[in-house]
Amino acid sequence: MPDLVIRNLHANIADSDTEILKGIDLEMSKGEIHAIMGPNGSGKSTLSHVLMGHPGYEVTEGEVIFEGVNLLDMAADERSRAGLFLSFQYPFAVPGVTVANFIRMAVNAHRKGGPDGADNPVRIPEFRKQLMEAMEMLEIDKSMASRSLNDGFSGGEKKRFEILQMAMLKPRLAILDETDSGLDIDALRIVSGGINALMGPDMGTLIITHYQRILDYVQPDRIHVLVDGRIVRSGGAELAKELETTGYAEMANKEAVS
Ligand code: ADP
Ligand code: MG
Repeated sequence: MPDLVIRNLHANIADSDTEILKGIDLEMSKGEIHAIMGPNGSGKSTLSHVLMGHPGYEVTEGEVIFEGVNLLDMAADERSRAGLFLSFQYPFAVPGVTVANFIRMAVNAHRKGGPDGADNPVRIPEFRKQLMEAMEMLEIDKSMASRSLNDGFSGGEKKRFEILQMAMLKPRLAILDETDSGLDIDALRIVSGGINALMGPDMGTLIITHYQRILDYVQPDRIHVLVDGRIVRSGGAELAKELETTGYAEMANKEAVS
C-alpha cells in the first residue's frame, strides 16, 4: 500500500453547502515527489488545508490514510506529529521571537507526547548544532537564526525560513502550497533547492502549484492536474510539457469528452 492514500475525498467550506473538493483520488509514497497543478480557484489550497486539518473546511466523504493511519480522525497538531508538514510560510509575527527560538519551539512541540508522554525538549547545544548544519546544507546565511520573526522578511527570506523549518522538523510528508501570488524566480529556486536537498527515501513531497516553472527545478515523479475540485489527469513528468501546449481548460474538456 502506498504511504499516502487519498480516496474519494470531498470537502466543503465549513458550515456551508459549497463543495470545493469533489472526489479526489491520489496515491503516493515516501521517496517520491508529486505535483498537483491547476488553475486559480480549482481547490489546490483547499486540498492542502484539508490534509492538514484546517478547521475552515469540512470533509463530507472519503478518506486520507498516511502510513496506515486515518488522518481525518486527527487534530492538526497530531497530524504534524504524525510526520506531515504544511508550508505555513510566515505563521505569525511575534515581536522578539527569533527564528532559532521559533523553530526550537516547533521541534519541542513535536517531541512532546512521544511514546513515554514526557516533554523531552531538545538540549540547546544539540539544537544549535543541528540548526547550523541545516543552514549550511541549505546555504542559508547564519545570521538568519538570530533575526526576529517580525523583522520584515522579504519573499525569498520567508521561503528560506519555511525550508529551514522543514529541514529541522524532518517531515515524512511535506505539502508545499506555493500560493499563486508573489512567488518569484528567486523564491522558486530556494524552494526547489531545499526540496532537492532534503528529499530521500524517508520523505515524500507534494508540491501544489499554479506554476509550471517550478518543474524546471524539481523533477516530479507524478503530476496531477486539478480542475474544479477533481483530478482530471495524472501522468509522469512529461505531462508538464503537454500542459504547456494544451493549458488547463482544454485538458479538462478533453477529459470530459474522452
Ligand atoms: P486554488 O488554491 O486552487 O487557487 P482554493 O482552494 O483557494 O483554490 O479555492 C477554491 C475555491 O473555493 C475558490 O472558488 C475559492 O474562492 C473558494 N474558497 C476556498 N476557501 C474558501 C473560503 N474559506 N470561503 C469562501 N470560499 C472559499
Ligand atoms: Mg491556492
